Amino acid sequence: MRVICPYCSYETEVELENPDDGDLIESTCDHCEQVFVSCVSISIDLEPHKADCLNGAEHNKEPFTSGGMYPNGWRCIDCEHEERGEFDNGYWARIGAAV
Ligand SMILES: [Zn+2]
Ligand SMILES: [Zn+2]
Repeated sequence: MRVICPYCSYETEVELENPDDGDLIESTCDHCEQVFVSCVSISIDLEPHKADCLNGAEHNKEPFTSGGMYPNGWRCIDCEHEERGEFDNGYWARIGAAV
């Protein structure tokens, strides 16, 4: 990752290997050859969005594509709540043929 050298303001490359928040990385400026440290700051972004279902409205249902023995299940796009569908009575009959 490129950083600005605090000594000469030259843009120099700092090697990052599994950086952790708060780590200090020692590097040498390519330009003025002064050693400086960079403190790793990993920022976490939060993107808030409305979840009406948590405020009394219906879930924003997205149907599951996989059927299995509980077809017609759904997953809420907003809150990630999942509900499996009604048990499919024809499931064992269909499977039975294969077992
Ligand atoms: Zn420098
Ligand atoms: Zn929901």
